[in-house]
Amino acid sequence: MLLTPETSLQFVKGIGPRIAQTLLEKRIATIEDLLYHLPFRYEDRLRPQAIEELTPGEMASLIGEVRGMALLRTRRMPIFEMTVGQGLGKVKCMWFHGTYMKDRFKAGQWVALYGKVEASRGSNSFKMIQPQVEVLPGGHDDEESKLLEVGRIAPVYETLGNKLASRWQRRVIWRVLEELKGRIPETLPQALCRRLQLPSREDALRWAHFPEAGTSMSQLQSWTTPAQKRLIFEELFYLELGLELKRKKFRQRQGIPFETNDAVRAALRQVLPFHPTKAQKTALGEIVADMRAPEPMRRLLQGDVGSGKTIVALQAMLVAIENGYQAALMAPTEILATQHFLGARKLLERSQQRYKVVLLTGSLDEDRKRANRGMIARGEAQLVIGTHALIEESVDFAKLGLVVVDEQHRFGVLQRFRLMKKPNAGEPDVLVMTATPIPRTLALSLYGDLDLSVLDELPPGRTPILTRQVSDEMADEVWKQVREQVRLGRQAYVVYPVIEGAKEDQPELDFAAGEPEQEAGAAPARKAEGKAGSSGSLFEKPSLPSLKAATDMYHELKAGALKGLRLGLLHGRMDADEKEIIMRRFQRRDLDVLIATTVIEVGVDVPNATMMVIEHAERFGLAQMHQLRGRVGRGTARSYCILMTGGKISPQAGERLAAMVRTQNGFELAELDLRLRGPGEFFGTRQAGIPDFRVANLVRDRDLLELAKVESASFVLAAAEVTEEEKSKVWSRLREAWQRRYGLVDAG
Ligand code: ADP
Ligand code: MG
Repeated sequence: MLLTPETSLQFVKGIGPRIAQTLLEKRIATIEDLLYHLPFRYEDRLRPQAIEELTPGEMASLIGEVRGMALLRTRRMPIFEMTVGQGLGKVKCMWFHGTYMKDRFKAGQWVALYGKVEASRGSNSFKMIQPQVEVLPGGHDDEESKLLEVGRIAPVYETLGNKLASRWQRRVIWRVLEELKGRIPETLPQALCRRLQLPSREDALRWAHFPEAGTSMSQLQSWTTPAQKRLIFEELFYLELGLELKRKKFRQRQGIPFETNDAVRAALRQVLPFHPTKAQKTALGEIVADMRAPEPMRRLLQGDVGSGKTIVALQAMLVAIENGYQAALMAPTEILATQHFLGARKLLERSQQRYKVVLLTGSLDEDRKRANRGMIARGEAQLVIGTHALIEESVDFAKLGLVVVDEQHRFGVLQRFRLMKKPNAGEPDVLVMTATPIPRTLALSLYGDLDLSVLDELPPGRTPILTRQVSDEMADEVWKQVREQVRLGRQAYVVYPVIEGAKEDQPELDFAAGEPEQEAGAAPARKAEGKAGSSGSLFEKPSLPSLKAATDMYHELKAGALKGLRLGLLHGRMDADEKEIIMRRFQRRDLDVLIATTVIEVGVDVPNATMMVIEHAERFGLAQMHQLRGRVGRGTARSYCILMTGGKISPQAGERLAAMVRTQNGFELAELDLRLRGPGEFFGTRQAGIPDFRVANLVRDRDLLELAKVESASFVLAAAEVTEEEKSKVWSRLREAWQRRYGLVDAG
């Protein structure tokens, strides 16, 4: 049968149903999928490194001859040792628990090694612990493997399943490329490729797998060869094109043209408790302009913690309400919803109007929920504040005009849109707020379907927060400082990574049932460290030392270091009423110190709180710590953030802590976070609805993302250089790509 890129892999020679199934589990179903499964590194087997030139501490890839080997049975474990030589130089390799390696090698064989070089005794002598190793073809092997394995730059692939190693993949991919020669269709307009000097798709795929002799190794490893760039660009171009189109399609829908007459403006002024910052004014201006327009609004309001997004949103909601519509605000947690509810009611009391504000969260009791749903359906509720319950509990709005989604990174893209599928003459406007300080260029490119407003200044009169990192041996000092703040009439937070200790070192992540999945408390940091550690020694078993936990420490501090102060405990496993009561008491200054888990991370606003103590700070991610620190420094008084560490601090954790001490700039921290964690974890791919890429990497490929955005916009606009035939090819490719990759085709 004639293979095409769409052919299912089970029809490829050498791939039976079993292997096809393994590949499918890796989301590799067709030949095309396989071709886009690119090597993650390359080995230069044409000009391999010489042993004499190795540098201890660096990663190296080299070729040598097996000189000898032995399986050592030590008391702790069997260790497989093998000496690989090259002229006078030699490298001793060791694999722990290496019994399985024992029969894989023969003296005289040639092998390719990749791993970290360590010094060893003797001249020209080095060590490698657990290097990756491949046996190279020798005399009896067929021509094809010689062609693919030696005397060239060889691609190295992630092992698929636990069997399909690089060597197997090289062969299959090579054969497929040979079979499809001249038949891999181009997916980008020719003129575009020519202008940007991108190789054809077929060439790009071939060279990304099997680089031509002479290709620069450093370009290959940094993903900047023309072939690699072409494939990255292609993926990003289709992402941007999809976003561009969604946005355009959206503009064609009918929205609600809100009016802003004198009465509306007066209503907005009445609720303002302070002079808005310039940034707030500009943002509100942009939002209101959108709301007045006949098309529906889709806007992202981005502002660092404490930049004052809430009041901007509230004013926008008032515009809708004053026009006779309802406004809804969706928050990611019950605490936050409750706080918004209380805050909004308080601000609205300043007005002569009597606005009806209603709360709807999952854990309200059924009667109250029913009553509130009734008010919403009859249109009596003008401002509705809630959690996911708003979209989950079949709420019918009488006349929904504006939806505000707070802290958007907690919601999936699709969910964002579901809320709006309610019957209405015009489509409601949507404002999404986020404190995730996504670097602006990235935000623009990723949320290409949203317009962007940025609050890039903090309200006046804030004094910078003093941040210190101390080990928990200094705890007494810290508690003394807490007492001092309380004596001055201030309040403090003390945050722990887990709710309860010992029994279950569970990170704080739960909320009442029905709430969206929370970012795990300490999990990201833990995970990141796990990864970093895995390249190191195998001796280390990941063991989690017992963590100080909120509940235990609440009792301990109450009876000890903070005796006499009014302490409150807040965590995600409390029910909504309890949480609300505690939050209210803290807000009213009936409590001095709030002992909490990360439930307070997002949005909690108590300007009188001046001290944030984070215990086990080494466990927290940067974004989290930044959010937590953002809970203080909200008033004019000097505020403090103490990062207490107890236990081992990995290099990564050290870097996070140092950054926290160094800067308070959310964008700077986000850049670092993005670098440390990678985009997948940074954005929380699944939650944020940002697609997994096959080739692209948002940190590494930012320039190409920008380029893709520009090119996709001009493609949609005019594309005079493109023929009709090419255009329709691009459109069908787009539909297919979005359907398959992102499943977002009909999302908006
Ligand atoms: P965030 O952007 O993190 O949601 P908030 O809206 O909660 O920030 O605002 C943070 C704090 O700053 C609140 O106490 C709010 O009342 C106050 N605030 C907001 N804007 C101003 C302003 N223009 N002048 C003074 N205080 C402000
Ligand atoms: Mg907020």
